[in-house]
Amino acid sequence: ADIAMYEAKRKGKNQVVFFSGEQNDAIEYRLYVEQGLFNAIENKDLHARFQPIVDTENRVVALEALCRWHSQDIGDIHPESFIPIAEETGMINAVGLKMLKEVCIACVTLREAGLGQIKFHVNVSILQLNSKLMVSQFLEYLEDFDVKPEALVLEVTESAMHDVGTRKVLRELAKSGFSIALDDFGAGYASVSELGESYTSIIKLDKSLAPGEDKSSQKNIIAESIIQLCQRLNKAILLEGIETQKQADFARQAGCHYMQGFYFSEPLTLTDAISFIQQE
Ligand code: C2E
Ligand code: MG
Ligand code: MG
Ligand code: MG
Repeated sequence: ADIAMYEAKRKGKNQVVFFSGEQNDAIEYRLYVEQGLFNAIENKDLHARFQPIVDTENRVVALEALCRWHSQDIGDIHPESFIPIAEETGMINAVGLKMLKEVCIACVTLREAGLGQIKFHVNVSILQLNSKLMVSQFLEYLEDFDVKPEALVLEVTESAMHDVGTRKVLRELAKSGFSIALDDFGAGYASVSELGESYTSIIKLDKSLAPGEDKSSQKNIIAESIIQLCQRLNKAILLEGIETQKQADFARQAGCHYMQGFYFSEPLTLTDAISFIQQE
């Protein structure tokens, strides 16, 4: 593996990595990602898809930007397998800014199409929040495109809230006009006290809380109770991962404000997202 790593490093950016041998697979994949991601950010291989978020009347209120990497060599790579590596190598800041740029362009495109009321959700890594420059960098970026922070919802996972420093950054972002959403609530080790943080205005309930077939299941009771708790805390509630009509009905009845999932739409290209909105 050491030799493979050395060889790959020596060959530089345009090298081709061959995947062979079980033990080396992981490390070779890592190397491929580390080197390929750098190039992908420069060209269009790393891009955004947009998944609609709807209200209880099925009107699109927002689009969530989800990054996609199309690798020339190994096809589509999903964020779950490259975001952690981007975080470890510090490349996450570049990924984040590239996504922010795409979102700003998308924002302007929608505004010009008369759809300026649609908000954009952007996933932000906890590591981006560690940078003191992040807030000013984000604001500068937006200014270049004449986009207001109010047009954006920043999605962070609960791990971002365990740290005093990142909480301070989140508070600053909220003060600057961004909305903050707590993503994947219920998936990790989130504590309920985090629901009460003043800077979060939207709680996204993780898809593992989307109900199953049995209406009186424990899972549904938990989901309903969390929704009630969020309501009492005056948070907007979004249930993600909705795949069936039944789950959408559950979300509405339980008092969710917003819904998202393959039942409504998968992540789309911007052009397709615009036609999706205009079809309504
Ligand atoms: P997430 O932010 O919680 O996004 C939701 C994920 O669930 C997306 O996967 C989406 O495609 C998928 N999804 C949507 N509807 C459904 C459904 O009905 N059923 C099921 N089973 N899945 C559904 P994706 O695009 O692969 O993204 C995975 C995760 O990667 C995201 O989870 C987010 O944490 C991270 N991610 C994506 N884009 C970015 C980015 O630009 N920056 C950062 N830092 N993280 C990102
Ligand atoms: Mg998200
Ligand atoms: Mg989520
Ligand atoms: Mg997630």
